[in-house]
Amino acid sequence: MKVHAGRRYRLYPTEGQAERLTSWGHTCRWLYNTALEQRQFAWRQRKTTLGVTAQCAYLTEAREELDWVADLPAQSGQQVLRQLDQAYRNWWNPQHPAGAPTHRRRSARLSVPFPGQAIQVWRLNRRWGAVSLPKVGVVKFRWSRPLGGAVRNAVVSFDGVAWYVGFGVHIDVTTPEMHARPDTVVGVDRGVKVALAMSDGRMWNRTFTSPGQERDLARLKSKAGRQDTTRRKRGAKTSNRARKVRAEIARAEAKTRNRRRDFVMWAANRLCAQHAAISIEGLNIKAMTATAKGTVEEPGTNVRQKAGLNRAILDKGWGLFQVALANRARITGTRIVKVPAAFTSQQCSRCGNTNRNNRESQAVFRCGSCGYQANADVNAAINVRDAAEAAPQLTGRAARDRGRPAPCRPPAQRRRQPALEAGISRH
Ligand SMILES: [Zn+2]
Repeated sequence: MKVHAGRRYRLYPTEGQAERLTSWGHTCRWLYNTALEQRQFAWRQRKTTLGVTAQCAYLTEAREELDWVADLPAQSGQQVLRQLDQAYRNWWNPQHPAGAPTHRRRSARLSVPFPGQAIQVWRLNRRWGAVSLPKVGVVKFRWSRPLGGAVRNAVVSFDGVAWYVGFGVHIDVTTPEMHARPDTVVGVDRGVKVALAMSDGRMWNRTFTSPGQERDLARLKSKAGRQDTTRRKRGAKTSNRARKVRAEIARAEAKTRNRRRDFVMWAANRLCAQHAAISIEGLNIKAMTATAKGTVEEPGTNVRQKAGLNRAILDKGWGLFQVALANRARITGTRIVKVPAAFTSQQCSRCGNTNRNNRESQAVFRCGSCGYQANADVNAAINVRDAAEAAPQLTGRAARDRGRPAPCRPPAQRRRQPALEAGISRH
């Protein structure tokens, strides 16, 4: 089966190359935002939809008039317009969770896209590869993993810390019929206190910032806020000093993001390698994080606490974890089962008694009926695993991992109907 995959490498442009790529990144953002405004304007005024072909014609005109637009390789500009078009199509697609396309912010990461025919990629030696980009020439990158297939396109980006080149590759993946370790089911509870708790009692967590780093970041942010207020009062442009502070904030945030990404990928990889089936709660993160404010008819309650919870959810990288699991599962042959999330934290995994008082505290679960006591997240993970076991393809009891206490009631009575989904959908 041919699939699209992404391969990202650290890119090492020279100072001159980096400068030019930076200015291209800003041009790409400008182009995207301008094209978006153009489409919105055309819709408001004439109720017409501007397509990517029409916009490419406008781009050609703009290139004749503006030197700095002409400096961006034409193919990159066209690629940006195609990205916008895709953003619109995603929005119109009822199967896709994306909302209306929005502006790209100046503070977002810089990126310059290149279509496959504009670039060339080759390997220099064991450690280094090279990519030739239009106008900037050959740029070295660290060959940290095999490409695995034909390069279809590239995106050069800068996240505040380092430069990267990401290749879209067409790879051949054969998902094995059977996992290397069949009959290994695990339930995973994605928590706030502990990032991941497994039904076999394992708990994986990592902090992505030290208290010192958090303090530094807060200091920088308040400094940037002060500078912003002063700037607005004077109606001045952003000073060089303010730019430096912003760059430092971006740097700190990018580092945290990279650590989180690393943890999530590591966990997904490990879980898929060790288990033939992974059961997770089918949480709708987008809805969970969006409902804190509530609606007009039904204003949200506990907005403050919910906001804190939301931050924690996003901080642990749940959304990314789902995507990473699905990607790894394709290679190991792991089956990902999503089960309904209701009551997993309040239900006793031994007798099935469901009561909100069972959860003694954030960390401790104690059943009011049978007295079963466990870590609250592990108890939830066992419930998640058992909900998946009702799925017909699995071999019931035999699929359980070791060390689990014998149930005091036949398991059938406490099983809920799981919502079975092959792979993971994007919402
Ligand atoms: Zn119980």
